[in-house]
Amino acid sequence: MSDDSDIQARLKALREAYAKQLPDKLVEVAEQWRVMHQQSWDVDRAKALHRSVHTLAGSAPTFGFSGVGQRARRAEHLLKAWLSEMHTPGQNEIAELATHIHTLCNEPGNHAAPQPTPPSAAVAPARPPERRLLFLIDNDEATVDRLPQQLSHFDYQVRVFRDAGGLDEAFAEERPAALIVNPELDDTRQGGSALVCGLKARYGQNLPVIFISTLNDFDARLQAVRSDGDAYFVKPIDIAPLVDRLDQITQSRLSEAYRVLVVEDDPDLAAHYALTLQQAGMDTTILAHPEDILTTLADVRPELILMDVYMPRCSGLELARLIRQQDAWLSIPIVFLSSETDTEKQFSAMRIGGDDFLTKPIDDRHLVASVSIRAERARTLNMLMVQDSLTGLLKHTKIKEKLAADASRASRAGEPLAFGMIDIDHFKAVNDRYGHLSGDRVIKSLARLLRQRLRQSDGIGRYGGEEFAVVLPGCSLASAKQVLNQIREGFAKLRFRHGDEEFSVTLSAGIASVEQFRDAEGINRAADEALYEAKRAGRNRVMLCQAPAAKFPERR
Ligand code: GH3
Ligand code: MG
Ligand code: MG
Repeated sequence: MSDDSDIQARLKALREAYAKQLPDKLVEVAEQWRVMHQQSWDVDRAKALHRSVHTLAGSAPTFGFSGVGQRARRAEHLLKAWLSEMHTPGQNEIAELATHIHTLCNEPGNHAAPQPTPPSAAVAPARPPERRLLFLIDNDEATVDRLPQQLSHFDYQVRVFRDAGGLDEAFAEERPAALIVNPELDDTRQGGSALVCGLKARYGQNLPVIFISTLNDFDARLQAVRSDGDAYFVKPIDIAPLVDRLDQITQSRLSEAYRVLVVEDDPDLAAHYALTLQQAGMDTTILAHPEDILTTLADVRPELILMDVYMPRCSGLELARLIRQQDAWLSIPIVFLSSETDTEKQFSAMRIGGDDFLTKPIDDRHLVASVSIRAERARTLNMLMVQDSLTGLLKHTKIKEKLAADASRASRAGEPLAFGMIDIDHFKAVNDRYGHLSGDRVIKSLARLLRQRLRQSDGIGRYGGEEFAVVLPGCSLASAKQVLNQIREGFAKLRFRHGDEEFSVTLSAGIASVEQFRDAEGINRAADEALYEAKRAGRNRVMLCQAPAAKFPERR
């Protein structure tokens, strides 16, 4: 993504380019008017003039020429009323239009330098960092020995400090995502808290801090609150809730940028909207040719469409209906953008499936706010629909759909694809011995491990209670075995706590591939059988389906 100063520069260049073109656009309006005025009233010529002033009214203020926009709007209103009522204007009416057109084309303020638009507030989430760095500040050897290694299974990288020494140098190198601090550092009750206050003063109050302490009394907890700690955990540390909390704290930085598709035939306006949304942290794609809509939707998978209404090839309303005819895009939010001020027309746009109607010219902040609020709601609704609530993984039907779609694609392309079924070993005993809540934590930890270790294009689902399914496109049986074995080993190393007791859990997995069975049903059944074999052979292992395979070139 371009950085902010780059986006600012590009927005400025757009404004300057528009300022340069504006005199020509006004000359064109004056010429259209001259031709129309010289001859008798003609609907086609009036329509062409209407289109020109309509476009000016919608675009000029966006690039800083609000006066031009207002004057164009007055001319537009007159023309629109006459055209919609099939009314032939009389002399007085024509004279009124003449005044508007004259001031529009000859106002001295037209050519003044436009006001730069203020940068919009960044309300959308930023992109995720590559990895998350934590500073652990603790002098307790048992913690320092174990915690970093446990956290590394969850993709946190930990730097250990036994006291304040070296912290400032470390901050100068890289700012951590959070601090984990023992408040009893220096063997006083407040050593760590005092250190945190100093660090926050130097590096910003928004630095997340988690206290880990052997003390569980009111005073110790109150002290942590007063030091502005985000969470407080009592040793010995149960890793799962700690990771949950860390994930939450670093969440805003973890979530992906919203993907927005901008459908707008005016290239300058399209670029302006796209850059304004990018500045607020979103990913944008511009669709210039409506006929590419279906392929673009499939490629970009936008979470929201910003749609111009008046376009030459087909209208935004028609395009919206075309999109809504596809099951896959039934629920994508569509926000119409138009210079249309007629509320009746706006309502009819909403009826055919628009979610909002923004009137051009639209203020940058208003654009960012409308888009991000709707994108966020769409993302949340979509998550509820497709994700399992405990783990955030795909629900049973969704992972099966993903297997079916990816398997047929892989089979057509002659590319490998592996499907794995994973089941936690003796999970009933975990529940029986440590309680259902501990069981849930184990399930969540495995879900998180799978998300960490697999790729973006892989599908991960919660198949049933303690059963998971993974779809690995481009992955051969042998590679899948390697990947799942690493996950199996990583999972077995996790230590869970229940009260004073510590326990670990293992898993078994079965894998089949598209090289063995071309259809999803066959792959699914074979992976399930392989999993059963793994259980029978003693658990804590990964088994491959033994059916013969055709050779597909690997792309992993
Ligand atoms: P095996 O090694 O053969 O897989 O033995 P197992 O005990 O894991 O298998 P079984 O299928 O008999 O038991 C699975 C248990 O998982 C039974 C069920 O109560 C529990 N379970 C299912 N869903 C959840 C859940 O969401 N949370 C918790 N805590 N337990 C669950
Ligand atoms: Mg099981
Ligand atoms: Mg089971």
